[in-house]
Amino acid sequence: MLKDLKYNKYQNISQLLKNAQKIVLTAHANPDGDTIGSCLALYHYLIQFGHQVTVISPNEAPGFLQWLPYYNQVIIYDADNQKVESEIKNADLIFAIDYNAFHRAGQGMEDLLSNASAKKVMIDHHPNPDNLFDEKISDTSASSTAELVFRFINDLGHLDKINKEVAENLYVGLLTDTGSFSYSINSDQPYKIAAFLYNTGIDLQVINQRIYSTFTESRLRLTGYAISEKLVVNHSLRFAYISLSKEELNRFIYQTGDTEGLVNYALAMENIVAAVLLTEKDDKIRLSFRSKGDFAVNSIANKYFEGGGHRNAAGGNSFISMEETIKKLNNIIPLYIAELNAVQL
Ligand code: MN
Repeated sequence: MLKDLKYNKYQNISQLLKNAQKIVLTAHANPDGDTIGSCLALYHYLIQFGHQVTVISPNEAPGFLQWLPYYNQVIIYDADNQKVESEIKNADLIFAIDYNAFHRAGQGMEDLLSNASAKKVMIDHHPNPDNLFDEKISDTSASSTAELVFRFINDLGHLDKINKEVAENLYVGLLTDTGSFSYSINSDQPYKIAAFLYNTGIDLQVINQRIYSTFTESRLRLTGYAISEKLVVNHSLRFAYISLSKEELNRFIYQTGDTEGLVNYALAMENIVAAVLLTEKDDKIRLSFRSKGDFAVNSIANKYFEGGGHRNAAGGNSFISMEETIKKLNNIIPLYIAELNAVQL
């Protein structure tokens, strides 16, 4: 046991696990490396105890995650909602992984999860969890849900169950949710966990390449276009944004995940404190917020764009046109000029 890691008592969850035969692990909509990695890590951990475990995701993960061990067995709600329905109805125990309210699993799954008779457990690091869970591991100071899953396994005294499959999946959660260990780290724990995972024999160089060096040509050209043609910078507000219409995305043969991380380029500029990526979807404009220092973008996402998230990384939606959304954003950001200027870089 890693004694210097945070130690909690998870007896209640442990008891629920003992009584459960059929366990369903669920990811949030538009799954990222943390939700999928944490689900699949728990899968590979739990099957060692003879549980019957199913992993469900509302929709497909981006291609750079699809090599993860067992990903090809994940049941995708968008592709087979009937199978998802029967799995959720028959489950003894349901986990919500890396999200804390059922609507984050998308409309179809929200109803199924809310009405399920199974006990429900949440493992997550986002603020303001719902009360609909029987048990929860909720810690907003954690770098990632993968960190919480590791701590859970550690606290149950099961580090010997962290085989290569568990380790690879946990490492991907940790890696992607911290931007390669560059943010969301409030303690030495992510590094200690990474060191433990490394020692299981997983190949970190290969994993890094599979996550970060798998751009299609069109994705790379979209990135170049977005930065060179669509980046708008307001130096006096220390703010920058990139907007991409559906037509522009289509021109670059957009696939899910292609704009992942794009907003970070806008934030990579010196003296920029807040950045937003706006992408036009079928029925809405999706906004992805990033910030540096104490500047909280989750409150802006929450107050004006029906969203939320972490202080330095948040998301929201807008149901007016792109042009109007940009106008709205340009009206809101100046309200925060004092906070933007107060950030020391
Ligand atoms: Mn996460």
